[in-house]
Amino acid sequence: KREDVVYFGAGPAGLPTDVLTTAASALLNYQETGLGVAEHSHRSTLAADIVNTMKADLAEFLEIPPSHDVLIMQGGGSGQFDATVYNSVLVWVETQRQKIVRANPSINEEDLIKQLQQKVQSDLRLDYLVTGSWSLKANQEAVRLLGPTHVNVATDSRKLNDGKFGKIADESTWQLSDKPAMIYLCENETVDGVEWPSFPKTLESRASDDQTLVVGDFSSTILSRRIPFDQFSIVYFGAQKNLGLPGITVVVIKKSLLSILSQGKPDLARKIGLPVPPTILDYAVAAKNNSLYNTLSIFDVFVAGQVLKKLLATFPDKVRGQEALSGKKAALLYGVLDSYPEVYKVVPDESVRSRMNLCFRVTKGGNVDEAERAFIRGATERGLLGLKGHRSVGGIRVSNYNVVDEAGAQKLATYLKDFATSP
Ligand code: PMP
Repeated sequence: KREDVVYFGAGPAGLPTDVLTTAASALLNYQETGLGVAEHSHRSTLAADIVNTMKADLAEFLEIPPSHDVLIMQGGGSGQFDATVYNSVLVWVETQRQKIVRANPSINEEDLIKQLQQKVQSDLRLDYLVTGSWSLKANQEAVRLLGPTHVNVATDSRKLNDGKFGKIADESTWQLSDKPAMIYLCENETVDGVEWPSFPKTLESRASDDQTLVVGDFSSTILSRRIPFDQFSIVYFGAQKNLGLPGITVVVIKKSLLSILSQGKPDLARKIGLPVPPTILDYAVAAKNNSLYNTLSIFDVFVAGQVLKKLLATFPDKVRGQEALSGKKAALLYGVLDSYPEVYKVVPDESVRSRMNLCFRVTKGGNVDEAERAFIRGATERGLLGLKGHRSVGGIRVSNYNVVDEAGAQKLATYLKDFATSP
């Protein structure tokens, strides 16, 4: 039975049962209309209400400032690996074009293209802070779209740790480009259990003049951590971990960038040999159409909206409340893991341990594979599910998202103790 299970899956994550009960009934008959919420047109006022309410509640819970807009997109976090590249390149091209035209208002198109092409060769760089598997994937996608000369790895955590992720290099060692078009980081690395302890000092105010876009992937920590939006040009996250169902991806973007993008000239980008965003990944198009350029899953937006309503009702101090609770649950679990060093070994360095995805190995008895199989077996018997580590790294992973309440975390803590002390 659902009540007997605590689910620690990394994504899709569990969802609150009362939200699913409401969603199930809305799927059949939404507000006595005789049609389900997924059947109504995405162009109806009813759909627009669902989208607008969800956006407003998200802005309230996360304290998104009026300088930023909320877009709801498709294609998942992986789609954003591309969207962030395409859109940053377009912002960069438009900014360079404006500079050239300001210096020489009567320049003809041929000369403009020549000058831009030179600029692309000498200056266009996208910088990535590679701290785990997801920032690495984003970085690889940028290389796929732009080629290696335009993509710079400013830091790669694997160099510190025998080729494995698990640390973050001191900022003084980073090799940022001179004026990168973008600096990209993944706030919480879901596979490797690595989380940025705080916003990097080196990046403070880098986003302020829109010359460099500071991009953050918050997919696996969303709604559980305050975000310094003033330091980010773009923050994005798939819904399926902390917010709702797979299928929608939220992008929080500075309005000033949308305005540059709306003047942007994809044609020109193409003429100078740069990739042009597909329409569905173009942030300006999404913004102009209130995220309804094409058919959006209004059901997914509805579910996310219900999760937000519940969180707003539960936490009077909004994301701060959820952040404190996440910290408390993580401290409980790491506390138990650290008390049995012969049995558990947390994978990442203590300085960057994730509060959201706790990754560890079970070393009891010396045979790790066998110990981990026994650990999972015992957990399953107690209804503690979704604990297997990502297939690329193995081990155990506890995803401590907001659907896991204190009682659920306590159940796991008790099991961790019992497993460690059993003969
Ligand atoms: N970024 C992070 C931090 C993730 O955890 C994931 C998915 N686990 C992704 C990006 C990719 O998201 P999607 O599966 O929605 O493409």
